[in-house]
Amino acid sequence: MSTFDEIKEILRESLFPSDGQCVLCKRLLIFERSPFCFYCMGKVHWIGESVCEKCGKEEIYGHTRLCLDCNYNIHNYHQGIALFTYTREGKKIIQDIKFQGNKKLGRDLGDKLGQKIKTKNWDEIHMILPVPLHPNRERERGFNQSWEIARGITKSISSPLVNNLLIRVRDTPHQTDLTKRERERNIKNAFSVKDQQLVVGKTILLVDDVYTTGSTINECGKVLMDGGAEKVYFAVLAIGQR
Ligand SMILES: [Zn+2]
Ligand SMILES: [Zn+2]
Repeated sequence: MSTFDEIKEILRESLFPSDGQCVLCKRLLIFERSPFCFYCMGKVHWIGESVCEKCGKEEIYGHTRLCLDCNYNIHNYHQGIALFTYTREGKKIIQDIKFQGNKKLGRDLGDKLGQKIKTKNWDEIHMILPVPLHPNRERERGFNQSWEIARGITKSISSPLVNNLLIRVRDTPHQTDLTKRERERNIKNAFSVKDQQLVVGKTILLVDDVYTTGSTINECGKVLMDGGAEKVYFAVLAIGQR
């Protein structure tokens, strides 16, 4: 984005804060200091304390340490954290960020995510890497939602946010209608580390918008660990249900 575009955006956001309307029901917000009205705030499935120790997915029964998926599958990351479950409202939030270009919502929710990360007993994070889009896709959309979320996270986690180190080398079809196996195949070899020296021995936080089957985070985790990273955490806004 050019400096001119950024200035335009800052002006637009200060003159017309998109917080003026509830993201979900479009009701005018008067007292709320959040992107949602009081009613919709309660409809979003915010993830509480009872979570899978590995992926951060909500564990309704709360008596197992790991969710079914993490119990049976090996993941290429250490631990993950998510803000809300990918329910109907969760999907609407993600769509508003991605397809309506609500970058401010991405950053505001990223800020909340950063505050949540701070409560975890994680190792010191050396760098934050947003999951990249393929340059073609990013040109189409005009921005990368993961980058905006990561910008929000840096309000609480002051590690450097690094662009163009983890890169997307293959443009893959949309994952939406694919099964877990198909997604894994679809995303395989889609990422690469541009300068391996920079990741050796580093603890890295990966940032993405959604974690469903985990194939994207897993594939990114794999190239980072293969490149010599010490530990990979991830943070997403939304995560699937079991
Ligand atoms: Zn609402
Ligand atoms: Zn899990």
